[in-house]
Amino acid sequence: MDKQTEFVLRGVEERDIRFVRLWFTDVLGFLKSVAIAPAELEGAFAEGIGFDGSAIEGLARVHESDMVAQPDPTTFQVLPWRGSESGTARIFCDVKLPDGSPSYADPRYVLKRALRKAGDLGFTFYTHPEIEFFLMKEGFAPGVEPTPVDQSGFFDHTVTGPDSDFRRDAITYLEQMGISVEFSHHEGAPGQQEIDLRYADALSMADNIQTFRVVIREVARGHGIHATFMPKPLSNYPGSGMHTHMSLFAGDENAFYDAADEYHMSTIAKQFTAGVLRHSREISAVTNQFVNSYKRLAGYTEAPSFVSWGRNNRSALIRIPGYKPHKGSSARIEVRSIDSAANPYLAYALVLRAGLAGIEGEYELPPEAEDDVWALTERERRSLGIEALPRNLDEAIRVMEQSELAVDTLGEHVFEYFLANKRNEFEDYRSRVTPFELERLLPVL
Ligand code: GLU
Ligand code: MG
Ligand code: MG
Repeated sequence: MDKQTEFVLRGVEERDIRFVRLWFTDVLGFLKSVAIAPAELEGAFAEGIGFDGSAIEGLARVHESDMVAQPDPTTFQVLPWRGSESGTARIFCDVKLPDGSPSYADPRYVLKRALRKAGDLGFTFYTHPEIEFFLMKEGFAPGVEPTPVDQSGFFDHTVTGPDSDFRRDAITYLEQMGISVEFSHHEGAPGQQEIDLRYADALSMADNIQTFRVVIREVARGHGIHATFMPKPLSNYPGSGMHTHMSLFAGDENAFYDAADEYHMSTIAKQFTAGVLRHSREISAVTNQFVNSYKRLAGYTEAPSFVSWGRNNRSALIRIPGYKPHKGSSARIEVRSIDSAANPYLAYALVLRAGLAGIEGEYELPPEAEDDVWALTERERRSLGIEALPRNLDEAIRVMEQSELAVDTLGEHVFEYFLANKRNEFEDYRSRVTPFELERLLPVL
């Protein structure tokens, strides 16, 4: 038994843990959990826990439904909101086939494969997300927009309001679970919050994001309100992005940094950026995976609608944050398309592989978009070579269907399953009569 496993088993005993939840993620990014008694844990580390994968989105085809959840001892954490007596802990699992080989359908494995590819090229991939979400009053009526808990705006200081109490409690729990928070503030829309996590390697970060979503929902419930990561819950306000800052390190060196360059960007950073831009349309169905995601991207406000990059350009898909030459280690790019409802494992795997394709293919970075790209006419954008992101899920699916990068990164099974699921979602949406139509047509036709 390795030291980490021993440490976890001892911790379970010493801390009076009565339930251990084994967590893993389905293809759409929903967290799955099975609780085991502490006595089962040693066996789970040795052999995993068997379960029927056919009931889980995308995990297995029916005739090969036996799956094994194999806990990763490095991810053990106590759930602080369950109290310190008779506590509950969680461990992330890798999903395996009964013969012990990794499941091709496990999003965590998809990301691990992409990270291995980066490792083969000599890089470690670090990410740091800014996660936006809304706090709404409890109780929804179908067809009626939800009510935000406050009417504040960007960076508003609310002395004691539901949002500041909420953020204090949420951040306390996150820190107790080993997730460091860098910033938090009220975002632009009523009820909208943002919490930025301190950078970590992408696999830990994807696990952290899954934990973050649970913590936020739990804390909201404790406050009698509802937290939502839906990309665009209110028609007349911005939606919720999960802007992600990223960098590649070669050993201790930030491979994105070059003090001599005008943008302080190394050739690696430029090629990576060019890769993410060039492939952004074909991975959009994953970075923005719901019908609703495209309402955020249509906003002409702060979410990107076009494929461009810039330094202080909020309309850009990739922004290069200003950084000081003496802080080269913080050189990074900010990818602004990803939304708060994305599956972080799949989204990070695809963005990484798009960036690596740029490095391997030595892509040329197109010129910086200086202008507000929304203000340009379609013709101006065309002459500048600025493409539009898919305008809806249907278009995103069609582009992804043609993507070799996507099939290679996700693997055939996840690729096919994901597309089939998304086609169903769009077909279901397509035939729905919406309030928009009723409002416009019913009175006059
Ligand atoms: N809420 C905006 C989005 O959907 C981002 C606002 C910001 O710049 O932080 O991407
Ligand atoms: Mg923000
Ligand atoms: Mg940002």
